[in-house]
Amino acid sequence: MTRDPTGFLRQEVDQLVASELDWKLRVLDGPSLPWSVIDGKKVLMFCSNNYLGLSNHPKLKAAAIEAVRTHGAGSGSVRPIAGTMDLHVELEQRLARFKGAEASLVYQSGFATNAGLIPQLVGEGDLVISDELNHGSIIDGVRLSRAERSVYKHADTDDLARVLSEAERHAPAYRRILLITDGVFSMDGDVAPLDRIAALGADHGAMVYVDDAHGEGVLGEGGRGIVSHFHLRRDQVHVEMGTFSKAFGVVGGHISGSTALREFAFNKSRTWLLSGSHPPAVTAACIAAVDVLEQEPEHVARLWSHTRRFKQAMHDAGFNTGQSTTPITPIVVGDSGLARRMSQRLFDLGVFALPIVFPMVARDKARIRTIMNAALTDDDVGFAIDAFTRAGRDLGVV
Ligand code: PMP
Repeated sequence: MTRDPTGFLRQEVDQLVASELDWKLRVLDGPSLPWSVIDGKKVLMFCSNNYLGLSNHPKLKAAAIEAVRTHGAGSGSVRPIAGTMDLHVELEQRLARFKGAEASLVYQSGFATNAGLIPQLVGEGDLVISDELNHGSIIDGVRLSRAERSVYKHADTDDLARVLSEAERHAPAYRRILLITDGVFSMDGDVAPLDRIAALGADHGAMVYVDDAHGEGVLGEGGRGIVSHFHLRRDQVHVEMGTFSKAFGVVGGHISGSTALREFAFNKSRTWLLSGSHPPAVTAACIAAVDVLEQEPEHVARLWSHTRRFKQAMHDAGFNTGQSTTPITPIVVGDSGLARRMSQRLFDLGVFALPIVFPMVARDKARIRTIMNAALTDDDVGFAIDAFTRAGRDLGVV
């Protein structure tokens, strides 16, 4: 009898289930709103990346519907052949203006951006220097390149300086060095010291690449992101990468930088060249999101006032909120079983916030990762504070 060649599928899933490392998919019945229906229960959404509530903003929805009327449901092609529409060009021009950059380029997703661009920026004979907590899409992008890699301790610029000095002594000399970091770290909510990283990059002639997926719409003037937050010049950060899937409320990755970067990226990134372009509805909704950020600064202001209130309340209640200075506030409980029970207790109390456990974070650093949302009312934030305090006391966390 021949062996079932797919037998490993069930076996490996069973192992994940047995070690409680499998994903149980939660289903939203309807839109992602401050109060969403999840698995049939109406709960306060406290872990979505929809920071500004733009995924349901009337201007974005109207733009998407109108684009279907004027441009159809799909683009019909990859961008380099017959899939570049006027809407794609408009979005890239609008984004570049918003970011204060010479040029921008839109990819299908943030993941496709990192996986497609990084292996083109560096290859054999080059070095990539990466923060140890960088996002998985950066890790995969680096793996796809043939460059050597060095990892520095999380957000530790002394360690980065050490790695750069060692690189300088390397023989034969590296052709190019790429320094790459997340802007805001998604599990901890801390901000990369991009000012010092950029200065070290300049001292050592390295390219500087920041993945600002969680900084856009959050940090900087009117949510322009981490480069704006640190008042850095465009020539100090060579690639500012981001996504439309979080604060912008839609989907799609992007980069901003020089015109040469844009042209290099679209001529060489395989994920861009070989994958169908965004449908008109997506592109038009992204343009509307840029409009909203430019015209309605109140969303970013409310995100921060809610964030300050929640962080203070969690601190006063005795929770460990780690190093976060952004709307991502981890409630670190330590043990992964405890984090799961806390998440379930919160769900019972009407708050949806998922546990983050090993291997996404260290074994003893399991947490509930909360993400603030500007669309919440003051009463909603109060509701969340009460629920966390109660769940924390019930389970002996505080
Ligand atoms: N980079 C970071 C830091 C992220 O958090 C994410 C989303 N999880 C991505 C890249 C990928 O973005 P996208 O959802 O657009 O693929």
